[in-house]
Amino acid sequence: FDQLDGYIWFNGEFVPWKEAKIHVLTHGLHYASGVFEGERAYGGRVFKLTEHNQRLHRSAEILGFKIPYTVEELDAATIELLKRQGFADAYVRPIAWRGSEMMGVSAQNSRINVAIAIWQWGSYFNPAEKLKGIRLDIADYRRPDPKTAPSASKAAGLYMICTISKHAAEAKGYADAMMLDYRGQVAEATGANIFFVKDGVIHTPLPDCFLNGITRQTVIELAKRRGYEIVERAIWPDELSTFSECFLTGSAAEVTPVSEIGPYTFTPAAISETLMNDYMREVYPAEAAAAE
Ligand code: PMP
Repeated sequence: FDQLDGYIWFNGEFVPWKEAKIHVLTHGLHYASGVFEGERAYGGRVFKLTEHNQRLHRSAEILGFKIPYTVEELDAATIELLKRQGFADAYVRPIAWRGSEMMGVSAQNSRINVAIAIWQWGSYFNPAEKLKGIRLDIADYRRPDPKTAPSASKAAGLYMICTISKHAAEAKGYADAMMLDYRGQVAEATGANIFFVKDGVIHTPLPDCFLNGITRQTVIELAKRRGYEIVERAIWPDELSTFSECFLTGSAAEVTPVSEIGPYTFTPAAISETLMNDYMREVYPAEAAAAE
């Protein structure tokens, strides 16, 4: 990924992609003092760009540092970078981290660096293919108690158990893993929130120890617009056999139906399909949809 062409916005400047490097004694690398975002551009517009940059700011505050660019400045930098990269459909990755000025657990005076990278990632939207659903394993690691980790922050450090869990699932032939939380309740996938359907009603775990995803909130809104009933509540794994549909939501995942979670099977049907299509209509700018 470090050999692509184009530019990376790095501390206020557009740096050639291959030259956007940092030192090995970067605090963020050693102590995970970094926060990031994952966004998608559709038809040349980043969906909910400001919400993502606001969350980046909040994530940093939770970790005890302040991002030295305003949300407006980050929005403008992203829009300019997307233009320079020349992509219509792309993935956007802003990241902020403590630099290499101080080594040790304490790094109060380290520089806060910020970068934004944008790469081409066409929205994977073949509805028939997606409706087959993906297979999930059940992860061994659990989402930590909010008293154990800053779970409301999209902090790099929280992804250690996600990468381990996703790798373990992939090694067994699964696409991803569903994670339980510290209480043993259903939490989310390694990079996306989770929803279930039972008797026409949508159920999703309360986001009290994991990200209340921007996509999750968008899909809840879309479901309400359709008149679907949504229940946010504690969901226990022994209930999995009672649900007929399951899907994931995330900026990268969009709405992705699930066909299996370990021994439990689901059949993507009307609600998953409707919300999958409604989400794609929601994310594309009106001008792009009109030009289709
Ligand atoms: N949970 C985790 C662990 C994630 O990485 C993501 C992706 N950011 C989400 C949930 C979904 O968040 P969003 O819809 O804001 O992308």
